[in-house]
Amino acid sequence: MLPQELIRKKRDGHALSDDEMAAVVDGITSNTFTESQVSAFAMAVFFRGMTAAERVAFTRAMTHSGRVLSWDDHALGGPVLDKHSTGGVGDKVSIMLAPIVAACGGVVPMISGRGLGHTGGTLDKMGCIPGYRCDPDIETFQRVTREVGCAIIGQTADLAPADKRLYAVRDVTATVESIPLIAGSILSKKLAAGLGGLVMDVKTGSGAFMADLAQARELAETLVSIGQGAGLPVTALITDMDQVLGTTAGHTLEMIETLDYLTGNGPRDARLHEIVIALAAEMLLLGGLVPNIEEGRDEAQQALDSGRATEVFARMVAALGGPADFVEKSSQYLKPAPVVKDVVSRRAGYLQRYDTRNVGIQLIDLGGGRRKTSDVLNLEVGFSAIVPTGAKVQKGDVLAKVHAKSEDAANAAVAVLGRTLHIDDPEPPVHPVVSARFSLAGA
Ligand code: URA
Repeated sequence: MLPQELIRKKRDGHALSDDEMAAVVDGITSNTFTESQVSAFAMAVFFRGMTAAERVAFTRAMTHSGRVLSWDDHALGGPVLDKHSTGGVGDKVSIMLAPIVAACGGVVPMISGRGLGHTGGTLDKMGCIPGYRCDPDIETFQRVTREVGCAIIGQTADLAPADKRLYAVRDVTATVESIPLIAGSILSKKLAAGLGGLVMDVKTGSGAFMADLAQARELAETLVSIGQGAGLPVTALITDMDQVLGTTAGHTLEMIETLDYLTGNGPRDARLHEIVIALAAEMLLLGGLVPNIEEGRDEAQQALDSGRATEVFARMVAALGGPADFVEKSSQYLKPAPVVKDVVSRRAGYLQRYDTRNVGIQLIDLGGGRRKTSDVLNLEVGFSAIVPTGAKVQKGDVLAKVHAKSEDAANAAVAVLGRTLHIDDPEPPVHPVVSARFSLAGA
């Protein structure tokens, strides 16, 4: 089948058959589709969507574009679980969650992604840890997951390789915000990892791909129903991405926030904590490790308070090649940016809604995100001490700190953020952090 004929059919709004969809995915995997044909296909899907049957065929073909792992639950001693987010700004939840759930008896083989569009990727954040191998071979990945309880790695050439190529193309061709492409991308990786249960964090709000709630609900429902069709139990929570999650955005800064969170050595941002505990409880429930959400929340909190989650994190880092003393000596390993400047409030009032996507774009401009697939990231740059929406501030208060590689870059970001973080009266409404839940049993 000619690539251009398959693209043409999709472009003209016709449904591809299972065989045709398999041919597209095979073309992406084997490089018989050129980069421009991959992007043309992605754009055709972006505009034309996919039928329910196409979504299943696409996800199935992507799953089988490489190896599909299997786990022996009895030998493992726990259910194989994971969580995946549809992408946000300042979203470091996975790095906290994987060790928490592992400390509670779950087994978490977490295959995470690079930054996509304006959002940051967990994988890029793990790249701050010197020596940490984000791309071990599958045997190492499975061994570490079994021994430690969790392993956070990137997409390998073996697992869902079609998604690896398509993901990189979508990142730089404005084709990210498509429900069938997002659902297929996420679920193919999770099905290939051999999961027994998946909790989805579907973001909504100005920093999410699905900015409005109706789209987020559609994506959540799609993920649950494709999962059901493919035999993977999926629970989806819709969570707020109308503001940066936590107080930082940028790889090194987010790693510092994560370590402070795990160890309790720094403050735990309330909204971030609520999402982590809510997702952990859902994972434990899905895996049958607790009888209800309340007990799941308690277990997760105890894993944090007892230091067990931090221990698991430290062991995972060491097992994948990072420093054995990374947690205790992180300041020796995480380099700060050379220039730090404050964004200062010009008036008293409340921080109103802001454009979170723009914060992600500013991070790319600072060098913390990619403009093309081959770009090397500047891990030190970003934002810290970002005040939460609804906070009351006085004139002269710091609204955020910009970390940059030069004075000029810092000044430019300070100016944009100064305009984005809008202070005014009266006190704005603050959205609940978790707004809806979808599972096999219904919302
Ligand atoms: N996460 C993924 O893995 N894929 C997407 O398309 C979006 C978020």
